Amino acid sequence: MEFDGPFTMTIGGQAVAGTATFDVVNPATEAVIAAAPDATRAQLDEAVASARAAFPGWAATPIEERRALIDRLGDAVMAQLDGFARLLTAEQGKPHGDAQNEIGGAALWLKGAATLDLPVTVNEDSGDRYSETRHVPIGVVGAIAPWNFPMVLAMFKVGPALLAGNTMVLKPSPFTPLTTLKFGELAATILPPGVLNVVSGGDALGPWLTEHPDIDKVSFTGSTATGRRVMQSASATLKRVTLELGGNDPAIVLPDVDVAAVAEKLFWAAFANNGQVCIATKRMYVHEDIYDALKEALVAYAATVKVGDGSEQGTRLGPINNRPQYERVLDLIRDAKERGYTFLTGGDTSETPGYFVPVTIIDNPPEDSRIVQEEQFGPVLPLLKFRDVEDALARANASDYGLGASVWGSDEDAAFAVAERIASGTVWVNETQHLTPLAAFGGIKQSGVGVEGGLEGLLEYTNVKTLVRRRQAAGE
Ligand code: NAD
Repeated sequence: MEFDGPFTMTIGGQAVAGTATFDVVNPATEAVIAAAPDATRAQLDEAVASARAAFPGWAATPIEERRALIDRLGDAVMAQLDGFARLLTAEQGKPHGDAQNEIGGAALWLKGAATLDLPVTVNEDSGDRYSETRHVPIGVVGAIAPWNFPMVLAMFKVGPALLAGNTMVLKPSPFTPLTTLKFGELAATILPPGVLNVVSGGDALGPWLTEHPDIDKVSFTGSTATGRRVMQSASATLKRVTLELGGNDPAIVLPDVDVAAVAEKLFWAAFANNGQVCIATKRMYVHEDIYDALKEALVAYAATVKVGDGSEQGTRLGPINNRPQYERVLDLIRDAKERGYTFLTGGDTSETPGYFVPVTIIDNPPEDSRIVQEEQFGPVLPLLKFRDVEDALARANASDYGLGASVWGSDEDAAFAVAERIASGTVWVNETQHLTPLAAFGGIKQSGVGVEGGLEGLLEYTNVKTLVRRRQAAGE
């Protein structure tokens, strides 16, 4: 498969060019690397109509056949891992090794979702009546993905939505459309036409999709602000929604932790993918007994991490993905500087091309500072000191977000007991960001509605249907 242009959409199994295009930029160089199709409203209508036309056939296809095709799609992605990964680094900025991990994860998610099953519950099986509850497909799913993990987050949706018997229209972020467009091309060689359509476009396309009367469900991953708009727009036709939104994940580091053993893990908890992870540690609460030791260990480790062009050997962190996000992160750094917070490392950005931000750690800023309260989604971490674990818990939970969290300590049971009291969709003990296609993942409070992954995630792509049969008694 060729990973160079031209980049086309996939509608009804066909490659479709845009009548207009938009530029895709490599964030490490700011050079334009490709032109992506800018879908018109008519092209979106065609994609939705193709998905609608394909729905009855796909829904009637035995689940074992759907399962086999999704599994094959996973293999096909895996077989093209290197090409996808190079393209992903070019459009997203992440180092090549991380891009390979993401593509491998995308394949794994398809194959993992393909192992799930739709349960049938028998409610009653008596002489009078037989009643069962099934999970049937919803129809056409509109899927919207962000730019931080464009491929794997799209596959969170594709695998379960298709397994459940829905057809789809998938829209990548305009900052990272290329890998998803290539994925659409690949999928068209495996899936029946219209089952998976991929469209790309600018800011108008998302709202067109969420308000489209012939889309039955929207599965959205992105910011909380956009999530609100999606829910509002979907309400016009009472579309089902799954919303995977922002987070401001706390880590609570207990005093009995082995600092030397966890420092590197805590570093990556915050800085993997440059902090552009919904479940990155975005506030690190550290017990005062070990605060200085951990601070020094994090700063020393940060000095060993090469920040640069993701396509260069040895780069561990690439640039921020796009200019608006780069400006947001710079604004948070500027605010922290103006307020006189102490920078333990980083904070200075250069004028060279590329949206590069150095690893930045801020020493115990006030709890109500922007860098603590807002989702930074960049490589800027506030380290926060606590004495009493009750205080750490109260601060950790005092957020409108509730996506992920982690607790770190040598006494696993004690750490677990703290974890049980954190209000978020997932809490990890002594690790973080571990996700699998077989476990539910989602946010509470303003971090989301619904979940992805596992049986619970699969069921979000279904309607519940109860069938009741009255049994005729002899002679009735
Ligand atoms: P974003 O909300 O700006 O964009 C996400 C997607 O929505 C893009 O495809 C965009 O084109 C589209 N979009 C924008 N406006 C729209 C509208 N009005 N209607 C419909 N679609 C619209 O988010 P982003 O900047 O791409 O991603 C970063 C955010 O995503 C962060 O807040 C991060 O925490 C969150 N995120 C959450 C998860 C999760 O699983 N909970 C995973 C990754 C990222």
